[in-house]
This record gives sequence, C-alpha cells and structure tokens, in this order.
Amino acid sequence: MVTTSPTTVEHLIGGRRAAGGRRTAAVYDPASGAVTKQLLLADADTVRAAVTAAQEAFPAWRATAPLKRARVLARFQRLLDERKDSLSRLITDEQGKTLADSLGEVQRGIENVEYATGAPELLKGEHTSNVGPGIDSWSSFQPLGVCAGITPFNFPAMVPLWMWPMAVACGNTFVLKPSERDPSAPLFLAELALEAGLPAGVLNVVNGDKEAVDALLTDPRVQAVSFVGSTPVAEHVYATGAAHGKRVQALGGAKNHAVVMPDADMQGTVRALMGAAFGTCGERCMAISVVVAVGEDTAAALLAGMKAEIARLKVGPGADGDCDMGPLITRAQQEKVRGYVDQGVAEGADLVVDGRGLAVADHPHGFFLGPCLFDRVEPGMVIYREEIFGPVLGVVRVGTLAEAAAVIDAHPYGNGTCIFTRDGEAARRFAEQVQVGMVGINVPLPVPVAYHSFGGWKRSLFGDLHAYGPDAVRFYTRRKTITQRWPSAGAGERTAFSFPSSQ
Ligand code: NAD
Repeated sequence: MVTTSPTTVEHLIGGRRAAGGRRTAAVYDPASGAVTKQLLLADADTVRAAVTAAQEAFPAWRATAPLKRARVLARFQRLLDERKDSLSRLITDEQGKTLADSLGEVQRGIENVEYATGAPELLKGEHTSNVGPGIDSWSSFQPLGVCAGITPFNFPAMVPLWMWPMAVACGNTFVLKPSERDPSAPLFLAELALEAGLPAGVLNVVNGDKEAVDALLTDPRVQAVSFVGSTPVAEHVYATGAAHGKRVQALGGAKNHAVVMPDADMQGTVRALMGAAFGTCGERCMAISVVVAVGEDTAAALLAGMKAEIARLKVGPGADGDCDMGPLITRAQQEKVRGYVDQGVAEGADLVVDGRGLAVADHPHGFFLGPCLFDRVEPGMVIYREEIFGPVLGVVRVGTLAEAAAVIDAHPYGNGTCIFTRDGEAARRFAEQVQVGMVGINVPLPVPVAYHSFGGWKRSLFGDLHAYGPDAVRFYTRRKTITQRWPSAGAGERTAFSFPSSQ
C-alpha cells in the first residue's frame, strides 16, 4: 500500500475509495502536456479484494427483484443526465477530445443505461405449457455472478456504460478495469451509481495495467469478461480468459473504409468524411481511416474537397469551444502517429496535406498533430495495413465497386465500413456482401443505437456475441430450462426406458 495524496487516483472497492498497489502511472492533460494526477496501479491482491467485494455482493443483488434493480438504473440515468456537463469536462481534461464530442459520448452512454432499465422485460423467459401430458417447460435467464470489464482510453465513459449497466441489471456484480490514461470518468460514473442506490460491492473499479487485467483473467471467481481495446490485447484477453473457463467477448481494433462512388453527393460526402476521419483526432474504433475512391474523377473531386475542408479545420484544446479537433492522448501516441506519416512518405504514398508541422498557440507541449491526408495509398503499405489511430486519412484509388469490395474484404479488420452513392442497387449489394460487421449507406459512422448490438467481424472481434443491446442480455446471463410434472398428472405410473418424445 502507498500513502495517498490529493492528486492520487485510487480504486473503488466495496463502495469506498481504496488504495492498493505500489506502482503508479501519470495521468496527463493532453492539451498542455502536464501531469495532472498519479494513478495507483492495482496489484493482484487489490484485484482479488475487488473480486471478493463483488462476490460477496452477488447473492443479495441476484435475489433483488429485476424491477428494483432497474429502478436503481433509472435513478442513475437521471443523475447522469443532470451531471453530464461535469462528466464531459472530466473526459475532455484527460482524453483531450472537444467538449461537444465528450457530450456526444456521454449521451450515447446514457442511451445504454436507458436500455438497461428495460431489463425486466428483456429477462422474461420462455414458457410452454403441455410439452407432454401434464408437463410444462420454461427457460429463464440467470445471472452469471462476478463479471469483469476492461476498457480503452478513447471512450472512458461510453464503453464502460456499454458493459456494467446491463450486467448489473441482469443481476450480476461487476469489476471494471478502465484505461489507465483517463480514469476519472469511469470513477465518477461508479460513484454516481452508488448515489443512485447501487449497493456497495455491486460495481467495483480497479485501476491498473496488464498486471490487473491478468489477475482478473485468471481469477476463478470471475465468470465472464468483456473487453474493448486493441487487437493484440483482445486476442490475449480472449485466449487467457477462455483458457481459464470464462465467457469472453473481446472487441479489437479497426481499419474502416469508406467507398465513394462516382455518383455520390460529393459535398455531403466530404463533410461526412471530415468528421468521421478527424473527429476525436481519429481515435475512434469506427473512425474512417481509408477512402476507396471509385474512378479517377471521383478521387480528384474528393481530394480537392477534403483539402479545402482541412484548411478550415481548427485544432486546439478540447475545452476551447471553437475547436474541431483536440490533441492525441499521449506523447507516445503523438510520436507513433507521426512515425506512421513518415513511413507513408517513405513507402511512396503521396502526402497531400501534412499536419506534422502544426503548432497550437499557447500549448507548445500539448500532444497535437494536424490532420494528414495521403493519396495513392496501396494495400501493401504499412500505413494501409495497420491501425494508425490518429488524424491520418489515406485514399486508395480503384476502378470499380467490385475492386473496392475486394480491397475491404482482404483487410484483416472488419469493424465498420460505409458507401456513399445514389445508386440503391449498388449500395444494397455492397451492404449485403461486404465482410464487415457494421455498414453505413451514406452514413459515415454506422454505430448501432443502444437497442441494437455493436461489433465487428474478422480480427475486430473475438467471441460470439456483440456488445450492448440484445446481445449483452445474452452475454451476461445463462439460460436454464426447467421441465416439470406433478404427481397428480400421472408421473411415475409406468417405467419408461425409451427416450422421452412427444410421439
Ligand atoms: P489497449 O488495447 O492498449 O488497452 C485496452 C485495455 O487493455 C486497457 O484497459 C489497458 O490497460 C489494457 N491493456 C493494455 N495492454 C495490455 C496487456 N498487454 N495485457 C493486458 N491488458 C492490457 O487499447 P487503447 O489504446 O486503450 O484503445 C485503443 C484501441 O481500442 C484501438 O485499437 C481501438 O480500435 C480499440 N477500440 C475498439 C473498439 C471496438 O468496439 N472494437 C472501441 C474502442 C476502441
């Protein structure tokens, strides 16, 4: 245990802030580059304490009527709505995105809570009377026990809200391990849930890194793990969690392509692509990072439009209401993304807008990088194959829609994609056949709403069920099927050795 100071961020275990772990990590304000907090990194003992708190809270919470559990979430939703501005500010201070963008994230999170308040309806089982003479059968959906969530830095409020509200609405208890880069929003949410009446221990938050994650993945009391983050870590979480007998859903990285057809509304397409490529500084798993332009004229018109729009885009601190794009999350991420831009130039792509020289007034140490636009990107290039997770958009030129679809299908990631066209038949064929989990037609960020489910294909998701929406109800519950007959209905009248059937 270490001595804590006011700027030290702790864990939340059993309803209380708690120390735990000897190592710390700095939390930054990405706009100024200053260290604002020190975060305690949980060791295995701290994680065990959190799992114990969740385990102890489970029996009473599981026995609480679904409607009472839902009422807690409804109160939480109201509090969240009242405090969404403070929460958005916390996100911007640690993640760097603009306040409007933070508010959008919070709003999407609130919608997930709203959906979870409907859990009593969603948990209703299935019943059939008289499956046999005097025999009834029904299925019910029971909670699993202690569930865990491991979340990324880019949506510090929304992604935790994809997970624990539905998990607890279904009667589970939960241990959340948020990103160590921006821990304050998830803690704010957990304390708000306590204020709304969530019993202590139902939701616990441990801050930490790989040590904490691995302790969760190997603890036999953890029944299920939801993960959202990069693909290499998703693969590790999936393999380790499954090897330890857990149910796992692990959502990974992305390389999302937008196809632009010759008949697209070019002005609208350019505007849509600007937000999709450069919103949250490109740090979204649904960000568009590749445009596949069908035809040389399409590419030329698109590049001209994008160059003009990029010239107008304002980069600066997220808290400045005039800015369109904030900084990257860390100095390391800034250097990594800049390294990709250098590599793209070295590989022979045509850098038509170079954001590497950007300087933001009064913020010389912020983790800023201006928008970058590459033309003539080829599928063999590293800047095409790898997820950059920064404000870098590449244009790939092809001759036909079939070639565009082949390029997308050959990419190992399959999170999101979209097509801009006025041709309904082409759009329908593309949406029907493309090997990607979420598809937009003239919609650049086809992020499903809270009552659908979210998930990619191929190396963007390991596991069977998608995040939130109806799939979350199935992920956080186990089906039990009960078949009953009472003696008065004739049970035990004669011995039967053949397999029971309805014949
Ligand atoms: P990350 O994989 O580095 O971290 C995610 C979580 O895993 C964090 O909580 C982190 O502490 C933990 N972690 C990191 N390294 C680990 C290791 N070696 N072993 C065990 N745990 C480890 O991801 P990030 O940088 O925080 O977030 C960006 C990534 O998340 C991008 O790849 C993005 O595409 C992806 N993402 C995906 C989705 C989706 O829904 N598919 C949504 C948001 C973000």
